[in-house]
Amino acid sequence: MAYVALYRKYRSQNFAELIGQDHVTTVLRNAIRSGRLGHAYLFCGPRGCGKTTTARLLARALNCMAATGPTPDPCGECPSCTRIREGTAIDVIEMDAASETGIDDVREKIIENARYAPAESRMKIYIIDEVHDLSLKAFDSLLKTIEEPPSHVIFVLATTEAHKVPITIRSRCQRLDFRRGTLPDLVRNLERVVTAEQIECTPEALAAIALAGEGSFRDSLSILEQVLAFSDAGLDLEVVHRAIGSVGPETMYELLDAVASDDLHAVFVKAGELVETGKDVRQILSALQGTLRDMLVARIAAGPEALPNCSPERFALLREQASRFRTDQLLAMLDVLGGAERELRFTNQHRLLLERALSRASRPLRLLLAREPSLSRQEPRPLHRHRPRPPFSLASSPRRLGRWRLRRRLPVPCLAM
Ligand SMILES: [Zn+2]
Repeated sequence: MAYVALYRKYRSQNFAELIGQDHVTTVLRNAIRSGRLGHAYLFCGPRGCGKTTTARLLARALNCMAATGPTPDPCGECPSCTRIREGTAIDVIEMDAASETGIDDVREKIIENARYAPAESRMKIYIIDEVHDLSLKAFDSLLKTIEEPPSHVIFVLATTEAHKVPITIRSRCQRLDFRRGTLPDLVRNLERVVTAEQIECTPEALAAIALAGEGSFRDSLSILEQVLAFSDAGLDLEVVHRAIGSVGPETMYELLDAVASDDLHAVFVKAGELVETGKDVRQILSALQGTLRDMLVARIAAGPEALPNCSPERFALLREQASRFRTDQLLAMLDVLGGAERELRFTNQHRLLLERALSRASRPLRLLLAREPSLSRQEPRPLHRHRPRPPFSLASSPRRLGRWRLRRRLPVPCLAM
């Protein structure tokens, strides 16, 4: 059997399985239950957070043959549910507006087609992905159909950039906003997959994968796949960091050890080692800030519950590390590293910037808290560095001076006669 990507294999099969979007699924399920479903929905939200999956679940809910009418709990096993899952349902029409942008595509695939009754189900569902990519003419031609579609038609327009969808279309749709997954949500979704795939994985490793997914359920599953391709034995934090090229906590602790010991030479050596192994300075700075943040939380929190994706052992280690710094010192270090991350845009000397930030962070607290000018905060340049001087004095001829200044577009002083 052909290999199926994890995010496709483990697409949510019912509304309950869809993690992190309860506010959307509640609205849709209530609408189905009360028979007050809108005729057009606009699903907005970042990529990989479940918009297309939800649209397909809605199609199943409307057409499930196990119930006598639309149901909030489609069975997932009847011929209709199966066809929708396999992407072979004739009455669920998916269109990718990124590749089919023109008026002819819309006319052919939607407007002409929508007039006919569904072939094998109760409703026809049109799912238009990346709808903001449609041309203006295509949107115009769609307007009438979206405003008053035949009673057997429901539109689901999905977009990552809702502001690019014309207001005339937006105002005719019910808008539902999808959220980026939180870290616990992403971890829960990954757990579901590794359990089903029978992969041994430590909680820290899952948290690191979730973090790298940056809020996208699809991206985090793709990263899990990448890590599994690297090593299919048990996954731990080091394996994850090696597979995705990010910076592991052990390396961070070593670097922070050098910073805490106020040993500038050690700081430069450690930073150099990291850069020479090919790590990106942005990743190093971001990982350092992540570790410092966890240390700060471990220092001020009552117990390990404060860091949900962290084992009690790692929490103890973080707290021990944090005990070497004062709270305001940790805050000031976060400030220095955050500033360095912002300055990366202004310079090509990334290694120097990292070394400078780390040596600043390793200074005693008194100096650390003192303000220092940054690359991006430069002194304003004087308006006229070499101010032109007239070849005569104001006292000898004020009118001549006025004309002289006008010619040079300089402000003319008010001449008291
Ligand atoms: Zn069904």
